[in-house]
Amino acid sequence: MENESLFGDDAEPPGPSAEIVMAQNEAATFRLSSPADALPVLAKAKPERLYFPFKDSPRAKAFRKKHYPDISRIEWFDWRWQFQNAIRDVETLGSIIRLSDNERQAMMHPSGDLPVAITPYYASLLSVDNPSSPLRRSVVPVVDECLHTKGEEEDPLCEDADSPVPGIVHRYPDRVLFLVTDICSTYCRYCTRSRIFGRRHQCFIDLEKWEKALAYIASNPNIRDVLLSGGDPLTLSDDRLEWLLSRLKKIQHVELIRIGTKVPAVLPQRITPALVSMLKKHHPLWMSIHVTHPDELTPEMSAACIRLADAGIPLGSQSVLLSGINDSVATMTRLMHGLLQIRVRPYYLYQCDPIPGSSHFRTPVGKGLEIIQGLRGHTSGYAVPAYVVDAPGGGGKIPLLPEYAVGRDEDGLILRNYEGHIFRYPDNHADAKDIH
Ligand code: SF4
Repeated sequence: MENESLFGDDAEPPGPSAEIVMAQNEAATFRLSSPADALPVLAKAKPERLYFPFKDSPRAKAFRKKHYPDISRIEWFDWRWQFQNAIRDVETLGSIIRLSDNERQAMMHPSGDLPVAITPYYASLLSVDNPSSPLRRSVVPVVDECLHTKGEEEDPLCEDADSPVPGIVHRYPDRVLFLVTDICSTYCRYCTRSRIFGRRHQCFIDLEKWEKALAYIASNPNIRDVLLSGGDPLTLSDDRLEWLLSRLKKIQHVELIRIGTKVPAVLPQRITPALVSMLKKHHPLWMSIHVTHPDELTPEMSAACIRLADAGIPLGSQSVLLSGINDSVATMTRLMHGLLQIRVRPYYLYQCDPIPGSSHFRTPVGKGLEIIQGLRGHTSGYAVPAYVVDAPGGGGKIPLLPEYAVGRDEDGLILRNYEGHIFRYPDNHADAKDIH
């Protein structure tokens, strides 16, 4: 491995004895000459520690028997099998769902850099016949991706401009985003970072870049919070992830590490006992889980989240508001209630970022406000996420709220409650300011 020396002298990098090694991912990470080079390592893995013990649900079992008749239950629940067998081509996807002409055309003539990959598990959740169904729209491309409209940018949040070293985005004073990989097990068609996926030559999974990023964090005492993202950090092997977490933990001013991931929704098999027991050694560790629609809240995802929560990892959700997918009060209420039941606290609802070819996903901002208004007061406060617009141009997250403070008169502040009734609060201090 030509990059071993890049680990520095703090510790030996996890080497060929790694328990979990993803042939494809590791080949990219450590510049093995081909994915096949990693396969002998894969064979050394201890299956019992990789397994996601779970009883086959009738849905998963029927799907597996129909489309993967030679695959055992053990293989199906092995995240490495799911990852390596992610569906990427039109023939395989077309054998599982009835592709529309539009979807077929988009698969055959990709418009941008964002690849197609769908884990067999997630494919089992897709509607066979309905191209407009929520999960299908979020992962199967359509020709609208070619339609570029005004205001759309490759890097709408100007993350590249706030990147002092490759892989680090330093926008806010006390925290950084650390893009540790450019690989996901399943690609969302509306991904804000779709620009990074086609740039293999600028691959974030590169030890030299990791070292530079770690050195940047270590040399900035203001950084107390590091968010690992990408790509999806949970596509890294346990050993690589542990190495990164251990290195971050050695930096005294780093108080908090967060992981942003969609894995519990698209590849819940990844949440193995081995992963969880490694993660819990690195507390305080928080996790933000990307969820899109209540159809993702399966028994498998529930088991994954409960396992993480049992390990003391606080879980928050982040969802992107998507036209025709989750843009109704009823759908969002179901999603937020379902998340609370599996111990995930709704955290952010994002206005969809204007990446190229995203107009078919974007809603008016008023829709987001309508949803927040439909949640706040009508259900538990814990079920209400913060609705934010990540300001194009690099302004950061700006929270938006429906108008609840509607004016002021001689009796004080005029407030509107969730039912639209007006109340006054005696906010009569001499220095009380008009809130508008
Ligand atoms: S999981 Fe996250 S990083 Fe990966 S494609 Fe989806 S939104 Fe993008």
